[in-house]
Amino acid sequence: MPIATVDPATGETLKTFDPMGPEEVERRLAAAHAAFRRHRVTDFAERARLLHRAADLLDEDRDDIARTMTTEMGKPLAAARAEAAKCAKAMHWYADRAEALLADERPAQSDVQDSGGRQVRVVYRPLGVVLAVMPWNFPLWQVVRFAAPALMAGNTGLLKHASNVPQTALYLEDLFRRAGYPEGCFQTLLIGSGAVEAVLRDRRVAAATLTGSEPAGRSVAAIAGDEIKKTVLELGGSDPFVVMPSADLERAARTAVTARVQNNGQSCIAAKRFIVHTDVYDAFAARFAELMAALTVGNPMDASTDVGPLATEQGRADLEELVDDALEHGAVALCGGKRPVALAHGWYYEPTVLAGVTPRMRIHHEEAFGPVATLYRVRDVDEALDVANDSPFGLSSNVWTRDEEEQHRFVRDMEAGGVFFNGMTASHPAFPFGGVKRSGYGRELSEHGIREFCNITTVWYG
Ligand code: NDP
Repeated sequence: MPIATVDPATGETLKTFDPMGPEEVERRLAAAHAAFRRHRVTDFAERARLLHRAADLLDEDRDDIARTMTTEMGKPLAAARAEAAKCAKAMHWYADRAEALLADERPAQSDVQDSGGRQVRVVYRPLGVVLAVMPWNFPLWQVVRFAAPALMAGNTGLLKHASNVPQTALYLEDLFRRAGYPEGCFQTLLIGSGAVEAVLRDRRVAAATLTGSEPAGRSVAAIAGDEIKKTVLELGGSDPFVVMPSADLERAARTAVTARVQNNGQSCIAAKRFIVHTDVYDAFAARFAELMAALTVGNPMDASTDVGPLATEQGRADLEELVDDALEHGAVALCGGKRPVALAHGWYYEPTVLAGVTPRMRIHHEEAFGPVATLYRVRDVDEALDVANDSPFGLSSNVWTRDEEEQHRFVRDMEAGGVFFNGMTASHPAFPFGGVKRSGYGRELSEHGIREFCNITTVWYG
């Protein structure tokens, strides 16, 4: 994949970049390693000062960087601005709290005595240079949710961003530099995915985090495994959105639309499979399809646009294949199911609701990365859970029920890293984020996220 800004709204190539060669990559690896030696011994006050400054600069840059993101990957401009604001908030959050989240721990005195020791402390020390392989769908947020905790913990970062968001990637390096971070603390590597292996195997790289597809995750995890290096993987999701009879149906239908089409449908935590109790299925399906059909698809720079283009031509082709396969195998499109006729240029796709989806169809097992929802009719909680868990993924889940016994069942039995009741999944700096099964492993955000790239050290005094 060439490293280039290609406007998904027109298909026009706006700017191309030469990948960095081995010498430039070596220079940056050396700088990251040297920076780690200095950064690891800075105190939390200094790290917080730098991160607060980066957050303030990001707030000032919000409109410009939002336009860059929208130009590079097609999300509606208002969503791009909201993403920038969310990143600044998360930076402040970690700047304010990292010291407390990484405070020394003291095991119970009875256990200390049992070990024959006088005193024991558990301390969180940084790991080193962390390589972040990141996707284009939330081109700022995916990076910041790694970088903010990693830098606060005393690590340094090397970013290999997706090849279609190079200007956002370079902006991030520049942001941290302008905030005052010493050279090498946070750098962007403009390299293709084929150049990742050599970086990951380099002895100066301690660990890696990847957000993206299953094949990319498998490759990075296999190489890191071979090198015995820590990884965190946040891969795809096909999150269920369960609607039970006690739900407020109008709110559920409206939220379902947002949960499905946010970011033009290209979010790992978008609700993708809508699993509805038979008593309310017909009413929910009709309203949901009506609302999806009423969305405005168009230029993401226009304030009236709800759904912009898909980020890449390949992404749209993949989505079309999934929908066509489902239709060929007997699914019914309640709305959409094709490209919008009026938008000949750019990689648009109509918001689509598919009913009658069965396990014979690829879309039942695969992630639909675009504005396409699948509907399932179920009899009871057991069947809702069976369908919800019949997926290789297990990122998050949404359940609409006011019945406490049902809520208990979903918390106990849902195979996912999150269960959100009567609302939609959203990430927040204070809550752990990550999945099970093929959605990956490890957690981002909260105290769990910042500790992933720490050397958790037992200090024992005899
Ligand atoms: P990829 O997984 O290919 O891209 C994500 C990142 O991984 C990019 O930086 C990419 O670099 C890099 N990468 C890709 N392959 C490798 C590899 N073998 N070794 C090292 N790095 C690699 O995602 P796509 O953009 O191709 O999207 C494909 C599908 O992935 C989507 O349809 C969706 O299902 C899923 N996805 C999930 C995301 C999530 O948020 N969980 C985000 C994006 C995609 P480069 O761009 O240079 O190829």
